[in-house]
Amino acid sequence: MLAEFPADLHIHTCLSPCADDDMVPINILNMAKLMGTKILGVCDHNSAKNAKSMLETAKDYDILVIPGIEVQSAEEVHMLCFFENLDEVLEWQEYVYCCLPQIENKPRYFGHQWIVDGQGNILGEENRMLLTSTSLTVEEISEKVSKLNGLLIPAHVDRKHYSIVSQLGFIPEKLKIDAVEFSRAISEADFRKSFHGINKYTLITSSDAHSLKEMVYQKTFFYIESLEYSEIAMAFRGLEGRNVFIKE
Ligand SMILES: [Zn+2]
Ligand SMILES: [Zn+2]
Repeated sequence: MLAEFPADLHIHTCLSPCADDDMVPINILNMAKLMGTKILGVCDHNSAKNAKSMLETAKDYDILVIPGIEVQSAEEVHMLCFFENLDEVLEWQEYVYCCLPQIENKPRYFGHQWIVDGQGNILGEENRMLLTSTSLTVEEISEKVSKLNGLLIPAHVDRKHYSIVSQLGFIPEKLKIDAVEFSRAISEADFRKSFHGINKYTLITSSDAHSLKEMVYQKTFFYIESLEYSEIAMAFRGLEGRNVFIKE
């Protein structure tokens, strides 16, 4: 039977230099549980090094964690890329890392990039600067994500920086996009009014939480049969009664 499941597909962990240090798997999952959120997209900037601990910890919760990466393209566009399992997201990470400039992070200026276990114990720190552009164009990202059976969502499209519309002026027709995300700064009605041609896309809105308190934002719902990746993919395409909708 189909039912509604609240979702937040854009959450950062403490691996992102700009996120709080307490954005560790157990805290994120407990916050989601408090909120009643059933589907979580975890996507750090250009890396998935906390995906394993997120997925392992999520086994103790009735919550679907979808591992992903928020990739920054060569044009400075942020794209959410999601995958079904750890192997696939790590394959994507390897590809992204090849296209990420070899610059060392400066934690004093940009923040730490912690790799943690489920409880938040530090396992290491990513030394490569994650907060920068890869050499991948949006088209290359689209091609590769599609080959890996991933889901692709341009992030915070209404924002004035790092969005596909701010950087390119439009959404190229040939991109294989599953949905479009708008930020918490705009309502669905205003987004639909302000962005010409947006109605042909499936829309989501997410918290883009870098702190636990920012996770208090729940507007996207999936109408699906069960908490599985394949159901999410079907909902984006509106297949067999599945869909995605926003409640203001
Ligand atoms: Zn972003
Ligand atoms: Zn983000």
